[in-house]
Parts: sequence; C-alpha cells; structure tokens
Amino acid sequence: MVKIPMSSPDINEEDISAVLEVIRTPILSLGPKVVAFENALATYVGAKHAIAVNSGTAGLHLTAIAAGLKPGDRVLTTPFSFVASTNALLFENITPIYVDVNPQTGNIDVAQLRQAAMDLRNGKTDKWLPRKNSGNGKLKAILPVDVFGQPADYDAIGEIAREYDLEVIEDSCEALGAEYRSKKAGLFGKFGVFAFYPNKQITTGEGGVVITNDEKAATLMRALRNQGRAPGDTWLSHTYMGYNYRLDELSAALGISQLSRVDQLISQREQVANWYIKHLINTPGIELPVIVPETTRMSWFVFVIRLDSKINRAGLVARLEKHGVPVRPYFLPIHLQPYMVERFGYKDGDYPITEDLGNRGIALPFSGIMTEGQVEYVCHVLKQELPG
Ligand SMILES: *Cc1c(COP(=O)(O)O)cnc(C)c1O
Repeated sequence: MVKIPMSSPDINEEDISAVLEVIRTPILSLGPKVVAFENALATYVGAKHAIAVNSGTAGLHLTAIAAGLKPGDRVLTTPFSFVASTNALLFENITPIYVDVNPQTGNIDVAQLRQAAMDLRNGKTDKWLPRKNSGNGKLKAILPVDVFGQPADYDAIGEIAREYDLEVIEDSCEALGAEYRSKKAGLFGKFGVFAFYPNKQITTGEGGVVITNDEKAATLMRALRNQGRAPGDTWLSHTYMGYNYRLDELSAALGISQLSRVDQLISQREQVANWYIKHLINTPGIELPVIVPETTRMSWFVFVIRLDSKINRAGLVARLEKHGVPVRPYFLPIHLQPYMVERFGYKDGDYPITEDLGNRGIALPFSGIMTEGQVEYVCHVLKQELPG
C-alpha cells in the first residue's frame, strides 16, 4: 500500500560525509564547525552576528532575555503559531498579549496590532489582556511569526514598533530564505530566530540560530547558551545563570553542508508547492495558500490548505489516512492549549480568526524530495475523499 511521509529531510552523501568527518575527530562540541556554521548563516541572511543553539525554542528564549524583558512585562504576539513562540516568553514569566491574525496569511493582523499597542499604552487594557495572570509590567516588545514561510507585514510592524518604542523579535523559524520586499526574513527586528528541526528548510537534526546586529546582545547570548560563561570565564566560572543550549559539532557540520545548497533546497520545496497548486487549483471545498505581493520570496515550510467550514475535518483526515496520506491540523491555536486555558483563562471565541484557520487548516504531506507522482497521488485521494 502507498504510504506518503508527512515530511522528510533532504540528506545527500555530502551531508553524511560532513557528519562522518567530525565524528572521526575528538572535537564533538565547542569546535570550529559551530563557528563556521554561524559565519555561513550570518553571511547568507546578511546579519552581523549568528549564535547557534540546540533548538529554535532555545534561540527564542535567549532573545527574550537579551531583549531585556523582565517577569510581568508584556509582549504582543500571535496565537496562530507553534507553541514555542509563546513558551519562550513564559519561561521568563513574560506575559504574551495576543493579537488575532490576518485571515489570508495567518500572520499577525497589523491593524489590530496598532490598536493593541495604542490601547495598552493608554491604559485601555480590557480588550487585550487575558482574564487572569496578565502581568503588571510594561508593554515592551512585538514578537511576530513568519507563518508557514511567509514573512509578516514588516512595514507596518516596524512603524508600530518605532511609534511605541517596542523591540521586535522575529520568529522566523519557519521562514529561512523568505523575503519581504526583497529583504530576508529574520532581519526585521533586533533579533531573528531560525530553527532546523528535520521538517524545516534546512536541518541540523535539532538546532537553531539567533541573528542580530547588536554586538552586546550577541556576546550575552553566547554566554547564556554556554552555561553563563562570559568571555574570560574558565570552565567552572559562570558570570551568569546560563543554559546548556549549545549546538554540537556534528549538527553544525550537517548545517554547513545543508546551508551550502539552501537555495536549491528552497527551490525544490517551491517546485513541490507549485505542483500542489497546479493539481488543486479550482477544487471545490478547499482554499489554497495566499501569497501576498509583499512576499517577494516565499520559503515554503508546510503546504496548508483550508477546508470549507461545512466539511467534517476529522472524518476527512481519517479517510485520507486510510489511503496512506497523513495530514495534520495546522495550527491548533496556542491560547486554547490546556496549559494556556488554565493559566490565563482563555475561552473559545477569544481569537476568532485564529480559531477559524485552526479549525479549517490541514497540512498536506510536504518536503523538497516529494515527486510529482506523490503530489498527484495526494491530490487524487484528497479530491476523491472530499465530500460533494
Ligand atoms: C519550528 C518552530 C520553532 C522552533 O522549534 P524547535 O523545535 O525548538 O527548533 C519556533 N517557532 C515556530 C513558529 C516554529 O515553527
């Protein structure tokens, strides 16, 4: 029976040799590969500093600290994301304040973002704060997410940030290589974060990178990822309370090798997305992804379609699975995750667009190594199983 994988990394012989080369040496951590990977990534994106870490989540956490955010402080962000963008704030007891999303892109709605920043600044907090545990600190930052590989609306976000003196932390974990008005994702805030889990555009197994042009922040994050050892500290002296967020040398070697063909990897994903679009266009009952004109380069992370609200998603998902086609609801809203409901008292209906997209979205099997035959098969099964 046919069985299509949900996602697959694209690993070639050079990737394998790169990892083998490292494992034959005694230096498996804190070596030259991490430095080389950081330099290559900084050059690729066009940032002064890149700090490699062992996950995207770890990277986001370090940016929250390096941005100077304190417990109780408030950060405007989106509930339509992977939980890590919120959890990185919660690790520091920072309060995420949610703004609903644009129904087309799933990225933070900038009209509502502007309103939220204005209201919070003027003490009109009712509409925006969670029902409980809302913190008592100041509004300090915006944390937009480049959802599914499409950059958020940074012209507006930049304006709002300047007007209200807010730091911007860009969660670009799904968008390595994407461009907004020809500028690369990750460069739109003081910090940008990328992730390299095996379903991302490039992989290191587990891993992530923070980019910034701020040297002081970069130095701090390098210390924090390495158990708080500042420059000059010895192995057992720790200037800061830090973390073990180090990326190992094997992972970094894989990252260097993957990054050397990142444009090819992104193009292959684009090819697969275009096959999906070709085979699904004008299919009744579904909506295809919307790419806005400001997105001068989409960096496809997942291929998410939206079902008509009349379609029973769970039933469809079960029928697709029977034909060897795995699909995933994408995203389940963060504010409705059990731990968020318990902590902040969120309810159904609080962020209607996020909930609607969350209820209707399914990610189809997707990777850069899918063949057109596989895409055709998925589309064929989908059309056959769609009701009506
Ligand atoms: C993948 C991802 C992350 C980071 O994930 P890790 O598994 O920690 O590397 C963060 N935010 C978003 C939106 C993501 O998709």
